[in-house]
Amino acid sequence: MKVAFVGVGHMGGPMCANVLKAGHAVKAWDVAGASLDAAVAKGASRATSVADCVAGAEAVVTMLPSSPHVRSVYLGENGVLSAASAGTLLVDSSTIDPLTAREVAFDALARGLPMVDAPVSGGTAGAVAGTLTFMVGGAPRDFERARPLLEAMGRNIVHCGASGNGQVAKICNNLLLAVSMIGTSEAMALAASLGMDPKVFAGIVNTSSGRCWSSDTCNPWPGVMDGVPASRGYAGGFGADLMLKDLGLATEAARAAKVPVLLGALAQQLYQKHSADGHGGQDFSSVILQYLREPDEK
Ligand code: NAD
Repeated sequence: MKVAFVGVGHMGGPMCANVLKAGHAVKAWDVAGASLDAAVAKGASRATSVADCVAGAEAVVTMLPSSPHVRSVYLGENGVLSAASAGTLLVDSSTIDPLTAREVAFDALARGLPMVDAPVSGGTAGAVAGTLTFMVGGAPRDFERARPLLEAMGRNIVHCGASGNGQVAKICNNLLLAVSMIGTSEAMALAASLGMDPKVFAGIVNTSSGRCWSSDTCNPWPGVMDGVPASRGYAGGFGADLMLKDLGLATEAARAAKVPVLLGALAQQLYQKHSADGHGGQDFSSVILQYLREPDEK
């Protein structure tokens, strides 16, 4: 397949490399020269603009930072909708708000361009390994058309329903993840303050009803688990600022739908403070530092 790939940054770069590895011909475009150079070095051909990238493509994949970038790349002058040939399949894997995803897909369809939203989980490690989970929103026919392309980049490809539902699944999962990480942090910090060995406490939680991904796979207390961000100064992993972004999307979607998300809003405020305290670049499990009396209390 002739694939256009727009946005080859931390996630898009390795995803583009996996599409190439699967034998597709890829033309890449990114406003950042260094990212584009890296994609070209891996075998993509170099586009000179969005319009040049998508001209003649059978499928377009975009992996952009946020909703305004998606709007501008798709709906802007010389954007994807004006430059792609009718029938081209559009796949947006950026994490954005469901309403924007639905609006852009609606406009795309009006121009004869079927579109799915396909945000991912799995982080940069999953992008490199080709093991991402894709949460896909769109018509069943378009989902089936996108599947082979998504299988080149991921392991779990899940149809979540109509347009925008991929984004719904993504932001609601991350809202729950943020709340569970904060809850785990709160319990770990309290147990330690009350004199319990954090490792023993984590073992109890992980065989009891408090167990969750944040406690048994990415425990925030340093030294409780090997190979997790907490045990290497919170480097790598899923950045606190990316979690803050997803909480913003979830609370904004909730506001528009007039649905209360009390814990989600609290989580957003806590991550906002955490970011303001200078931790935005660390893994999101570093939010436990908000509970420790001294910065190095462990
Ligand atoms: P990134 O900033 O590394 O990559 C985005 C790329 O888009 C950049 O290279 C940027 O130059 C390019 N770009 C921006 N505007 C553009 C335009 N108008 N035209 C062409 N290129 C443009 O971000 P990332 O970490 O790769 O994340 C991409 C998306 O994936 C985000 O929506 C993020 O929330 C989501 N996501 C990220 C992770 C992660 O761990 N990094 C995990 C899951 C989902």
